[in-house]
Amino acid sequence: MQNVYESTRNKGNRISSKQAILEGISSDGGLYVWPELSSVQLDLETICHQSYKENAVYILKQLLSDFTEEELKMCVENAYGNTFASQAITPVRKVGDVYVLELFHGPTSAFKDVALTLLPQLMSVALQTTKEKALILTATSGDTGKAALSGFQDVKDTGIVVFYPDQKVSQIQYRQMVTQRGNNVKVFGVKGNFDDAQSKVKELFLDEELKAVAKKHAVRLTSANSINIGRLVPQIVYYFEAYKQLVNQGVIELGKKVSYSVPTGNFGDVLAGYYGYLMGLPVEKFYVASNENHVLTDFLRTGVYDRNRPFIQTISPSMDILISSNLERLLYYMSDCDAAFVKGCMDDLKNTGRYEIPKALLAKIQALFDCGYVSDTETKQIIGQTYADKQVILDPHSAIGYDIADKASQRPMVSLATASPYKFSQDVLDAIGKTSQDELDAMHQLEKVCQDPIPKGLAELETLPVLHKDVIAIDAMKENVAHTIEEFFND
Ligand SMILES: *Cc1c(COP(=O)(O)O)cnc(C)c1O
Repeated sequence: MQNVYESTRNKGNRISSKQAILEGISSDGGLYVWPELSSVQLDLETICHQSYKENAVYILKQLLSDFTEEELKMCVENAYGNTFASQAITPVRKVGDVYVLELFHGPTSAFKDVALTLLPQLMSVALQTTKEKALILTATSGDTGKAALSGFQDVKDTGIVVFYPDQKVSQIQYRQMVTQRGNNVKVFGVKGNFDDAQSKVKELFLDEELKAVAKKHAVRLTSANSINIGRLVPQIVYYFEAYKQLVNQGVIELGKKVSYSVPTGNFGDVLAGYYGYLMGLPVEKFYVASNENHVLTDFLRTGVYDRNRPFIQTISPSMDILISSNLERLLYYMSDCDAAFVKGCMDDLKNTGRYEIPKALLAKIQALFDCGYVSDTETKQIIGQTYADKQVILDPHSAIGYDIADKASQRPMVSLATASPYKFSQDVLDAIGKTSQDELDAMHQLEKVCQDPIPKGLAELETLPVLHKDVIAIDAMKENVAHTIEEFFND
């Protein structure tokens, strides 16, 4: 039961979960999956009697079979012990007749914290097995960078370098990153846009000179992006957690089916819900909620995935995605683990920007997945209306999920809230009909009308010292990574 993961595009070549976490993506371009996932059926009654952390260990244990229970307990304690502002970690709040699952009480006020607090811990344990160290390289358009920095801060045997496009991230995102503390973190602004930085990071992973420098220090260069199973697995937990809270509050009886509405970009979050479903979570429907980049809505309605369309910048930037990478894993499971079929689709996507799935497969997916999309104008209306009617303030991403949930016929319905409204203060304030000078001003104004105070991590941004001032050329990224390896791992 050790080597259980294989690529979505190639049967055979099995590796353990620790290796899969360190490698991230398979060398054939596929994503790591465990074909026998649905052989695990979790006991709902046990889940309803356990704490979040106990459930996390219970669920992780099934999927990461080469970690010991002791290792997992330690990882979970380090990740969730005192980093979340809510005792429940992911509390459910009733808004109208929808149950909003708040995933944003972590250190950076975004749902990515749930996974990015745990992944570094899992990586650190895996590195002890392989006797290596790891340097994480990340290009960020704003949000992921901070969550990754915070998660990897001072984690044993790891270091992290984040590159953000200079002048192209928001005031709050900028401050969140350049004030990051820790002895193993570096943050650089780069002269270029996000795509330039991202392309260069991909090059650096393949650069022979840089690999040689890393190898000299037994360092592995790796990424922390959302296709890593170490980021996916922690997200399964809160789907069960929401279910538990509904049972324990007497909203539903044990075993009754529930629907989930999920603001979606890369398809990681909703896929984790599907993993939960395969493992015994009673689900009626998943609603895939998108913004104006509605490539997934079109796919789920027609069976044609087509990324050949303009990229639209919206007020829900974390969902501005045209290639939803984790959809590959859904195709894999829904096609009964047909790696050749998945590879065919992904080759088509790479070569033509499009693929089409057979009608029977589409029908099978539609039996469980519904969808919809919401424009920026509508998103602002929902934020304004929810505030006026219910005195609850949603961020733009959460508002999209809420709107789809509100209009859907299924009940009971859980809608995932993926960011604190404070992270997008200016747009949110605008949506409730108020104006502001800048983002920090907007944050303070928002506090006067919001039920919750400004989260600690955001409130302190104005006064924390700037620790990372370097802005470099794209061509200087390589030498800076080389220096960082020498500096962090020279022992
Ligand atoms: C990343 C993100 C999403 C989208 O999640 P995926 O797993 O990429 O589908 C939604 N909302 C917020 C705030 C995010 O940061």
